[in-house]
Amino acid sequence: MNRRGLGSEPPGDGYPVEARKWNHYFSQSLINDFLMCPEKARHELLGDVPRTESPKMALGTAGHSAIEYALKDKLSPRGLSDFERYAAIMMEAFEERMYLTEFREDPKLGMEWAKRRGVSALSAWFDDICPQVKPAAVEKSFEYKLYEDENRIIYMKGTIDCVDEGGFIWDWKFSGSERKEWKDRRGSVQAAAYTKAMNLQRFKYAVMHEQGVQVVDLYQTPAHWAWLARQAVGVALLVEADLPMWPVNDSDWWCDAKWCNVFAAGQCKGQYFPERNR
Ligand code: SF4
Repeated sequence: MNRRGLGSEPPGDGYPVEARKWNHYFSQSLINDFLMCPEKARHELLGDVPRTESPKMALGTAGHSAIEYALKDKLSPRGLSDFERYAAIMMEAFEERMYLTEFREDPKLGMEWAKRRGVSALSAWFDDICPQVKPAAVEKSFEYKLYEDENRIIYMKGTIDCVDEGGFIWDWKFSGSERKEWKDRRGSVQAAAYTKAMNLQRFKYAVMHEQGVQVVDLYQTPAHWAWLARQAVGVALLVEADLPMWPVNDSDWWCDAKWCNVFAAGQCKGQYFPERNR
């Protein structure tokens, strides 16, 4: 198991019968990593490279904390407070993350940037999205059996930002630009994994990007869930093959020291281009 409780346990010879099969614990982000670059996912499963967190990732996490507070207030008898309370929570959470060992400094993305970008994104959420949200559960953890055959069981684990009373799921994204909706309609591992967890069919991304707010409303069916299981089995078979390396895909933004911990650790492509790891 890696530090996030993900990983794979090979079959043993004891009881119950589940112990005599491979037991895999995956998350949607692990499968997404795999679809971007299999080698990145292999290292994520092994947990063998230090994690780093860019200022953009840290601000996203801080924004999620502030939204969690706001929605828990909304659920409680005291109700929602002023925006300033949640902006302060976000900035405090961002500052705390700057002291973590995994924080990866960027001189252009310090506190001033976080305040400008974070407050603008959070206020867009507060004004445009929050009034639409009727929280039934906030930061809801799940673990379920996605797939089983005679040799393996695959469990999915994760945490849902918000389950809405209206019978759908919300996920918050802090992003520089709009999401490519057509890509989500073609396939969203996250929408499939989360709707299956709650046995719901609608999933909404609320994206706070630099030009405003976008809502991507997706509808998931048993076919999406079966496809998710098919994707997960592909990962499981590679794990079980115990290969010393998996295929690499460096063809897009993720292959960069800012986004790939393997690169940042000076392994894989980071070994060939160490000068890019700055
Ligand atoms: S350095 Fe690039 S190719 Fe290697 S694991 Fe990271 S994303 Fe994949």
